Amino acid sequence: MAKITVLDEHIANQIAAGEVVERPASVVKELVENAVDAGATKIEVLAEEGGLELIRVTDNGSGIEPDDCEAAFYRHATSKIGSGRDLYQIRTLGFRGEALPSIAAVAKVRLVSSSDDTGLGRAIVIEGGTLKENEDTAAPQGTEMTVKELFYNTPARLKYMKTIQTELGHISDVMYRQALAHPEIAFSLKHNGNTLLQTQGGGDLLQVIASIYGINTSKSMIPISGENLDYRISGFIGLPELTRSNRSAMSTIVNGRFVRNQGLQQAILRAYHTLLPINRYPLFVLSLDMHPSLVDVNVHPAKLEVRFSKEAELNAFVEETVRAVLSEQVLIPQVVKQQ
Ligand code: ADP
Ligand code: MG
Repeated sequence: MAKITVLDEHIANQIAAGEVVERPASVVKELVENAVDAGATKIEVLAEEGGLELIRVTDNGSGIEPDDCEAAFYRHATSKIGSGRDLYQIRTLGFRGEALPSIAAVAKVRLVSSSDDTGLGRAIVIEGGTLKENEDTAAPQGTEMTVKELFYNTPARLKYMKTIQTELGHISDVMYRQALAHPEIAFSLKHNGNTLLQTQGGGDLLQVIASIYGINTSKSMIPISGENLDYRISGFIGLPELTRSNRSAMSTIVNGRFVRNQGLQQAILRAYHTLLPINRYPLFVLSLDMHPSLVDVNVHPAKLEVRFSKEAELNAFVEETVRAVLSEQVLIPQVVKQQ
């Protein structure tokens, strides 16, 4: 007798939510990434009680066509890739079409979006995966996503949430990473009425670094740039005296996506080499741009990890470029001092 059945969409979304929506910060990450993909120049995030009570992300991006608003919550529904071939050329932060259905499965979600400047748009309300409302409404161009009572229907997950302070810390990290990866976008983060981050937009990375790490730190950062046929490097690297006890201020960004990559980090550490005291780590914000076919981002649901197709070449180029900038900055002043 056959015992295998295909799960219905409702259950499938709840299972996927377990992977995609680990904690409030995951919701912020997914919604902000959608806003970035929509070409927004201004993205505001509002959170209450560590994001467990409320998360609202408002953007001035392209918006969603009224008749697409409900479909945006279907499983594997995406406007970002159309064929299998596109998977090898990802130019957007999202492409899996999993975030919205997953979030809507474990929270009470309200979407208001307009894709033009007529002042008219669409409002959708979904609670625990069930559509409650789909109506025309007044709305400016852009998208506003409100996520209330995260995990209200999955008490087992809710129980694992840490203190408000801890959840807020994770949300801040997500926002810092997005702000560093996108200095051209004005980001703001407010929690329980307090402004925790505010960037100007306009593309000045050093200004973003100053608003996250402080003015003094930003003054000890030196610009880096370089390119070869495959890769372009830009960003700022910290002078060796700016060290930290962990790797949390080592930021690597690939095609606008904040990533963690062991090989890249090691290459940069090799470039600093003896300049760093033992067990101390540098502060840097390094952006790499390359053809999307040179990097596979479809490794993990949160897309924090990536694989490079020419890893050895890339790492060697990064190491050389960082070493060259450091030796110019660090060695020359020392020689001058000795005279
Ligand atoms: P993905 O980002 O992987 O495509 P999502 O579930 O995050 O999947 O979003 C589904 C679709 O909804 C997106 O492909 C996009 O077309 C639309 N969308 C979601 N958020 C926004 C937004 N802030 N602005 C414009 N379109 C959006
Ligand atoms: Mg997305």
